Amino acid sequence: MKNLGLVILIEDFIPEWIEWSKKAGIATLGLHKIAIPGSDSVSDLLRQLDNDKRSLISRFQDNAISIQYELHALEWLLPRSLFSDKPKLFREKEGKRNNDLNCCVSNSEALEIISQNSYTLAKLLKQESFDYFFWTDDAFDGFCECDMCSSLSPSDQNMLIVNAMLKGVRAYNSKARMSYLAYASALQVPTVKPDDGVFLEFAPMDRNHFKPITDQNEEKSQNYVSLLKELLKIFPSCDSQILEYWYDIALYSGYKYPPVKAPLSIDIISADAGFYTSLGIDTIKSFASYISSEYCKLHGEPPLDEFNNVFKNINSKS
Ligand SMILES: [Zn+2]
Repeated sequence: MKNLGLVILIEDFIPEWIEWSKKAGIATLGLHKIAIPGSDSVSDLLRQLDNDKRSLISRFQDNAISIQYELHALEWLLPRSLFSDKPKLFREKEGKRNNDLNCCVSNSEALEIISQNSYTLAKLLKQESFDYFFWTDDAFDGFCECDMCSSLSPSDQNMLIVNAMLKGVRAYNSKARMSYLAYASALQVPTVKPDDGVFLEFAPMDRNHFKPITDQNEEKSQNYVSLLKELLKIFPSCDSQILEYWYDIALYSGYKYPPVKAPLSIDIISADAGFYTSLGIDTIKSFASYISSEYCKLHGEPPLDEFNNVFKNINSKS
């Protein structure tokens, strides 16, 4: 039996998602906030939780739907206001220190601050699930180029940050686990080892979403397929997670309203899901952004029962 999940935007988190989650067959709903670097999106999400979302979360929990958070959190974990006093906490780009993205992973104080603030963020989020998804900044070229870091690939820098985050959340909850997100420029096989409790989350955003990921004519998809197989030599497949874009209406709408109708065919979702499950991956999720009241007004209810049916078919054959 596969674990299914959807990741929606905090802005789309409305009571209707209780029924939609049941229709989709999911037991876990992730809340995400689109994070433009410099926007302090985590503070904004925490404000929204405290204003009016906490009671809604309880209603989901009463319906056996667990809420967790999937967040580009580095900006919150290493406040950029520290730059004026301690520029070496931050990354070097073209010979200059910058507080635009992420950090210098060779600076032990930077990792210690990230670790301590991961503890604080876990405490503030108060989620039931042991799985945490604190991601680095949402950027393709966001890592450090200083003399100490330049030999470390984006994936290795990502792993060092994730290990520091895990240390912090484990101080809050000794059973916590932390996602290592294979995404954006962190698409190499890391040589830095994941600490015990770090699991793979694979998000193939740049693939062609209109062809199955196994399509032999799609170079980017083929690269993702090869990378995933390599990553599964490091991370146990049963603990690994896929984060797909099947219902990421924001992506298909160019991140602008109005939302377009969910565009993907069930054949593509079935083919992708079949491939992922053939690798032994048990947890498969998709973004499901921009699905809210306005989407329903324009397009009717989202076809989330398809998601459930795909996995019912896979489970019935396994
Ligand atoms: Zn550095």
